[in-house]
Amino acid sequence: MNILVSACLLGVECRYNGRGVLIPQAEELLSRHHLIPVCPEILGGLATPRIPAERVGTGVITRDGGDVTAAYEKGAGEVLKLAQLYGCQAAILKERSPSCGSGQVYDGTFTGTLTEGDGVCAACLKEHGIRVYGESQVGRLLEDIER
Ligand code: SF4
Repeated sequence: MNILVSACLLGVECRYNGRGVLIPQAEELLSRHHLIPVCPEILGGLATPRIPAERVGTGVITRDGGDVTAAYEKGAGEVLKLAQLYGCQAAILKERSPSCGSGQVYDGTFTGTLTEGDGVCAACLKEHGIRVYGESQVGRLLEDIER
């Protein structure tokens, strides 16, 4: 199966701080499925490293007050295009990110406080019927798609 994956979870250094995080299940996933790495923030035109941003209402604001909502929405649209082109029905996206977070995101106060909600890209994919899993839910994803 073709599965979208946040590129930073495969070790690509595209996070706001210029780092990536290689998840331990990457090799197992690659041996069983086709992974399509995407970074919506880069596809939206943002640079790495970049000023951290959090969701505020329906938008996204940087720590210094810049409104980057348009870039986030563009990136989500580009990821959706790839998801549809590759026929992806599931995605593994980085938890808590203002783009990729699913179910919980930081609350816009830049204090490390979480609130219920989705990142812009995760919300877009869900709206189009693509199941979104965080990196702590890889086991559940495999159960769901291989049963
Ligand atoms: Fe990772 Fe998503 Fe942030 Fe890109 S936008 S660095 S893929 S969490």
